[in-house]
Amino acid sequence: MIEVKSYLMGAWVSGERKTELVDPSTEEVIGSISADKPSLLPVLEHARSVGGPALRALTFAQRGAILKAISKALHTQRDALIEVSIRSGGTTRSDAKFDIDGASGTLAYYAALGAKLGETRMLTEPSEQLGQDSRFFGQHVWLSREGVAVHVNAFNFPAWGLAEKLSVAILAGVPVITKPATSTSILAFEVARAIVAAEVLPQGAFHFVAGSLGDLVEQLGPQDVLAFTGSADTGAKLRGARSVVARSTRVNIEADSLNSAVLAPGVAPGDDVYRIFLRDVAKEMTQKTGQKCTATRRIFVPRELADRVQEDLAEELSRVKIGHPGHDEVRMGPLATRQQLADFRAGVEKLVASGARIVAGSATDVAPIGVAAGKGFFVAPVLLRADAPGQADAVHAHEVFGPCATLCPYDTHEEAVALVARGEGGLVSTVYGDDRELLRALVLGISPHHGRVLVVSAKVADKTISPGLVLPSCVHGGPGRAGGGEELGGERGLRFYMQRTAVQGDRALLDKLFEAPKPSAG
Ligand code: NAP
Repeated sequence: MIEVKSYLMGAWVSGERKTELVDPSTEEVIGSISADKPSLLPVLEHARSVGGPALRALTFAQRGAILKAISKALHTQRDALIEVSIRSGGTTRSDAKFDIDGASGTLAYYAALGAKLGETRMLTEPSEQLGQDSRFFGQHVWLSREGVAVHVNAFNFPAWGLAEKLSVAILAGVPVITKPATSTSILAFEVARAIVAAEVLPQGAFHFVAGSLGDLVEQLGPQDVLAFTGSADTGAKLRGARSVVARSTRVNIEADSLNSAVLAPGVAPGDDVYRIFLRDVAKEMTQKTGQKCTATRRIFVPRELADRVQEDLAEELSRVKIGHPGHDEVRMGPLATRQQLADFRAGVEKLVASGARIVAGSATDVAPIGVAAGKGFFVAPVLLRADAPGQADAVHAHEVFGPCATLCPYDTHEEAVALVARGEGGLVSTVYGDDRELLRALVLGISPHHGRVLVVSAKVADKTISPGLVLPSCVHGGPGRAGGGEELGGERGLRFYMQRTAVQGDRALLDKLFEAPKPSAG
């Protein structure tokens, strides 16, 4: 039994009342977490007054060195963390690596960025002359906010979610209070323990809240920031918090997304691009049991290819072995919680009621490998098809958070663009094709509705990333339904945690105030 504790003001703290945590493959109780509603005001004050100044005293290069040490600490614990992920999150070994290596990789990326930014504490933009006088200039500078970063994470990436937000905030010089989702908090707790054990962060720079934040969000002030990942409903609640509305606490929301794969006209079965399209869609439906914010939910194909795609995809999906993730042959584990299972089944029904039909798989009928009968939160991947996708409203509005996607035949590429946009803002859309004019029309039509667009053409067919992979160098987020936020993206990500100020004055003086950083030795 593992007790998930909080790490507050330098000490590990237990809750009084407890919520049980279960292994989603067996339903065995494996741990507990606090069910209290704590007052975290002292923690907020401590982070602001102790952690903030200590971090801001360090340069980007020094903060980068801290991130490098944390990345190494997680990598050293990799095997143990993978085992924790399998047991507490129902992830296969490969899914666990995706989360855990994503965490250490993102930390390492921001460590390297810190070294590159060097021995300075601010970011500057090119200065420009203001008005007629050649001495009077304006210079935009970015300095660390003097508040706290509160991070609220979703259940699906307990390691990466914690680490990617932490990397950017710490490099920007802002102390962190991080809260994992309750259901998969055991892995986040082990990550937090590794971070604390590394003893590289200054006092007050890192706090881990197991369970509820109490009224912390309402207590945030004008220099604090709130970064949230989770459902659109919770995101909307947090956006309406008094601190955000009345004190302009800066907020970033990463929420639902009805990501799409678009097979452009002209691609033939047998082409490399078609092969990669099938591989990607099957992977994006089933990796992490479809519990990825970037998973493909809608598949747009030219109408004349719909039957063939349906047949090929159904075959790919039928090969996915489902069961206890501890078994070597298993490729897809359970959903994370009983509630997720209920939501998944209800979601599939909603898509069916909206005009889609199930053409492969089942939300209820599955015989998982290595699991006692009736135990665990298992489903088979479900492929639906909506032959009149324009009328199937729920397909474009309801995110079924599991291994489920809907095949949507289209007649023209203009219709494909319009249907993709019906998702009202997404994290990622992937376009597969080779005709440059069609790709141009599709990419330019789809891009304003997305944070990221991946284009898979023959020349890069075997070189591209899988669409669901979030790289720290590219922004992650999307407009509208996806929350309207933006995370990561290299140096771009730091700006959420910093204040841009236009400083105006004598050019020579400004040059002196904002001297270029010296190159870092590390
Ligand atoms: P959720 O139920 O909204 O929970 C997300 C987080 O918010 C959890 O840590 C939860 O804590 C916390 N929370 C809930 N109510 C809160 C409140 N009133 N005040 C403060 N915190 C609160 O979402 P989820 O089920 O964990 O995640 C699934 C969703 O996340 C999916 O819709 C998925 O698309 C989305 N997601 C988006 C991204 C992205 O980058 N865009 C990434 C991953 C997931 P408790 O668990 O303790 O309740």
